[in-house]
Amino acid sequence: MTVTRFAPSPNGPLHLGHAYAALVAHDRARRDGGRFRLRIEDIDGARSRAALAGEFATDLAWLGLRPDGAAIRQSQRSAAHLAAGEALKAAGLLYPCTCTRAEIAAAASVHGPDGPVYPGTCKGRTDNPDGAAWRLDMAEAVRRAGPLTWLDELHGTQHAAPETLGDVVLLRKDAPASYHLAVVLDDAADGITHVTRGADLFAATHVHRLLIALLGVPVPVWHHHPVLLGPDGRKLAKRRGAVGIADLRRADGDGPALAEALRAHRFPAGISLSEGLDIAP
Ligand code: GLU
Ligand code: ZN
Repeated sequence: MTVTRFAPSPNGPLHLGHAYAALVAHDRARRDGGRFRLRIEDIDGARSRAALAGEFATDLAWLGLRPDGAAIRQSQRSAAHLAAGEALKAAGLLYPCTCTRAEIAAAASVHGPDGPVYPGTCKGRTDNPDGAAWRLDMAEAVRRAGPLTWLDELHGTQHAAPETLGDVVLLRKDAPASYHLAVVLDDAADGITHVTRGADLFAATHVHRLLIALLGVPVPVWHHHPVLLGPDGRKLAKRRGAVGIADLRRADGDGPALAEALRAHRFPAGISLSEGLDIAP
């Protein structure tokens, strides 16, 4: 059975870009008579706002998108995230890093799809410092996993190239796990068969495919859809003025009509759909 999910982070209200992502996930599941799940990615305690998360299901219902079953809160899955992180440590695949953002930016010479690539300063460390982040030894992980491929429904078969993101952080100093580790574990635990999400996360999927191999969990199919761009050509964002779904809802807007318009690619003035995979963050 096809199982998809919409996995918003509650660090801002949902906007049109989220609504579009949610309906892609919803419609993809419904097309196969499958299940559409909601997961609140509230792992980042400092940025997550509990009150917002409570609004998300209401926003979806207003759009006519009803998730199946109870929503999952990623913050409740910390024990599973930590256990997987410990297993990767025990396998000798992680090393501790105490570099600051500024140190990394100053030392990095390679710019990857997600910004400066970590230059490997702490690679090979075997101590266990307090407050360290734990990074994946990418070269060793790729060596152990061997060549990997993954399938994107819209973009075809991909040869995994996680090296371009460098030694990514899997266990963070301020949160139990990084996005990469949590998303792979949570999708697997919830039986997600089709990971639909914005094409801005395409590069991350190379890392996720590798983690799936290292963790021995089932491999889903991916579906990286275009994302909504604002008048400035950048991904819609609340901080750049994108209209909130809750605002439209409270203003007595017509949710199902909005969902229909998004499906038909009828967007408000100035908003367009991205082309290709090169999306400015
Ligand atoms: N929580 C992520 C976001 O809001 C999406 C994660 C995913 O779909 O894999 O951007
Ligand atoms: Zn470091």
